[in-house]
Amino acid sequence: MKPIKNPGEPLALWSGQDRISDNIHNSVTAIIRSGGCSWNRCRICQYRHERFTGIERPELIRLMSSQVNHLKNLVEKNNPEVVKVYTSGSFFDPVEVPDEIQSQVVNLVKGRILIVESRCDYINKEKLSGYVENIKGDRDKGEIFVAIGLETTSDEIREKCIDKGLLYSDYKKTAELIHKAGGKVKTYLLHKPPYLTEAEACEDMVRSIREITPVTDLISMNPCTVQRNTHLETLWKRQAYRPPYLWTVASIIAQSKPHVTCDPIGGGQARGPHNCASCDGVILDAIRDYNLSADQELMKSVMEMDCNCKKEWEYVMNQEKPWAMPLTR
Ligand code: SF4
Ligand SMILES: [Zn+2]
Repeated sequence: MKPIKNPGEPLALWSGQDRISDNIHNSVTAIIRSGGCSWNRCRICQYRHERFTGIERPELIRLMSSQVNHLKNLVEKNNPEVVKVYTSGSFFDPVEVPDEIQSQVVNLVKGRILIVESRCDYINKEKLSGYVENIKGDRDKGEIFVAIGLETTSDEIREKCIDKGLLYSDYKKTAELIHKAGGKVKTYLLHKPPYLTEAEACEDMVRSIREITPVTDLISMNPCTVQRNTHLETLWKRQAYRPPYLWTVASIIAQSKPHVTCDPIGGGQARGPHNCASCDGVILDAIRDYNLSADQELMKSVMEMDCNCKKEWEYVMNQEKPWAMPLTR
């Protein structure tokens, strides 16, 4: 195995802006290399490969602590209201992120909004309540959003197309637990996992957004991107998968009642959500604007635009046939 370059530095660290509860906040985001996702099997996920392997626990703690210090320096320099810490897995899994590191992050974000991601299995009410108390800080301003990768409200799609190992009922129970512990819930949805037609994937998101609206505080929809070394990449190379059209992404946002943030990673490229080369840029810019402004009229006006590829998209939406997935062996 190749040695990891700069293991004491975060995989990525940047500043930006985020819209939360109708306010636009300055934010800092860190992607921290961890012990790695314990589930480690979703068909679409490359992040699970970004982990430390073959090191003892004290070394894991040392390297993660060093990454958190880089984050600390940027937080002190920029003084953001929001700090997002992603670990390519679950922040609350103590095997992946040792308790010492979890506390270190909570302490450094005191008095601000912390967003971390975790699978439902590791979210424990007592522990989360302790962190929620601790993060409030002197001005009682700090809070924790726990992001859950629900991906879809359909158990069939989540199991057959993604292999996520999570039930919708467990997500709902966990969301309730997070609220009881004083935290808030952010939900990730995955637009167009493999084996769905463009129209099925669109319906799946429209329904999922509607169903989770009463359960979650924030919704983020990720249009699927073909990541390297994934089952999805194998399908894509065999021409058995196409990422979603940006027309579909825009149409979902234009019709969703709550504000749904959307980060079309790889937008306009063959591996990411795309239309034709000529209209991608305009739609991507509109989505980025909408993320901060929540201006739905903007997304509606995108859907009124014309381009040579729009007819192709309409044809695909109407004519694409589902692939057969056996229910039994
Ligand atoms: S999507 Fe999340 S749960 Fe699934 S393998 Fe990747 S990191 Fe683990
Ligand atoms: Zn076009």
